[in-house]
Amino acid sequence: MPTSDPILICGGGLGGLTAALALARRGWRSRVLEGADEFGAIGYGIQFGPNVFHVFERIGVTDAVMAAADCPPTLLMRDALTGDIRLAIPAGGAIRERFKHPYIIIHRIDLHHALLDACRRLREIELIPGVMVTGFEEHGDRVDVETADGRSFSGVALVGADGIRSFIRSKIIGDGEPRPIGYVAHRTIVPMADVAADVHRREVVLWSGPGFHIVHYPLRHGTLFNIVAVFRTSSHGQKGDVSSYRAELAETYRDAHPAMHDLLAMMDLERRWQIGDRDPIRHWHKGRIVLLGDAAHPPLQSLAQGACMAIEDGLCLAELIHAGNGDFAGAFRRFEAARLLRTARMQLESRTLWEIYHAEGIARDVRNATTAAWDQDYMYGCLAWVYDGFVLPTERG
Ligand SMILES: Cc1cc2nc3c(=O)[nH]c(=O)nc-3n(C[C@H](O)[C@H](O)[C@H](O)COP(=O)(O)OP(=O)(O)OC[C@H]3O[C@@H](n4cnc5c(N)ncnc54)[C@H](O)[C@@H]3O)c2cc1C
Repeated sequence: MPTSDPILICGGGLGGLTAALALARRGWRSRVLEGADEFGAIGYGIQFGPNVFHVFERIGVTDAVMAAADCPPTLLMRDALTGDIRLAIPAGGAIRERFKHPYIIIHRIDLHHALLDACRRLREIELIPGVMVTGFEEHGDRVDVETADGRSFSGVALVGADGIRSFIRSKIIGDGEPRPIGYVAHRTIVPMADVAADVHRREVVLWSGPGFHIVHYPLRHGTLFNIVAVFRTSSHGQKGDVSSYRAELAETYRDAHPAMHDLLAMMDLERRWQIGDRDPIRHWHKGRIVLLGDAAHPPLQSLAQGACMAIEDGLCLAELIHAGNGDFAGAFRRFEAARLLRTARMQLESRTLWEIYHAEGIARDVRNATTAAWDQDYMYGCLAWVYDGFVLPTERG
């Protein structure tokens, strides 16, 4: 039975909002505390595999998501030095036929708004922006939370959906900062009309180079172009300025295909993200406090599945809270058990794939020779554990 007191959710990212929607579907109230002044105000492009639609359908946002999304015809991997296409995975009708749902690319802001609009229609969900959680304490059957502006909130449980640098994790697990892997990312969105480079405009393209890559794809029905440049650098932990970043890019990508230089010339280098992940852990709850998404198990972005895992978590957690009937610690134990192997595999395989993307020398030759034999059936077979989705523990026969 849903309680009259709300569940507190720290973080209104994709995982936190999905949890709120999935809880409301079962009649549970939640209060989403978001540290930023606005929910979902910034973001770049994001890719979603068909597995995420199992969740979107249940929380009723598929139509809103599809109105803003595009389906790329193909996922291409190109060798960054020669430009040769090394892998072409059909991602249009064939993926939909095999995995029952589409592969999509969408502006993260548009996805966020699809979720936010759904939240705003439900009286069970209270969205509170501009509240950075700075403390919490469990007292018997409730959790009290404090925020940076001196406010306090009380709920029957606390969900830490506060991302890879989770404050809630720092208190209940205390395993420090994420693991930096020595790579950084720069992200840019430009009008499609400004893209002069001789590149694919409808596909998702990964240019795979020794110690660097670029991913690009269109957004908003071909009107925008999303570019992400990722590379290894010894300065990954330091803050530089645009001219030092520009010099680093010129050096790192010096042997890259000419089309990549045209793309790099369009990059906005004001902001840099350090790439990192965490080792899998077996437990991510303590009493009435639980983590989900990147706070619990952040992967590298090689499989483009971090947000998908956060969204799957949100539904799974809500279903188990509902089934737990007030036993939050028991529900959180079942949640960890249900999600551990899938999310840990995502973390570990993403690391392996990262090595393959950035292979150098003989390893690159081996990669190129090996991928030459990978056809659609083989690739779909490799991806089935991800794209087939997962069975909710509450629906297992
Ligand atoms: C370059 C790059 C590309 C990526 N591409 C993809 C992709 O194509 N597909 C995919 O599925 N994934 C992708 N990911 C991964 C994806 O971005 C994350 O896995 C996903 O955002 C995790 O969602 P989350 O809800 O767990 O956390 P977040 O999205 O990080 O949300 C956390 C929220 O908590 C808030 N918050 C933080 N601390 C506090 C606090 N103390 N109090 C209150 N609020 C707080 C934050 O403001 C934020 O809104 C990519 C990642 C990177 C770096």
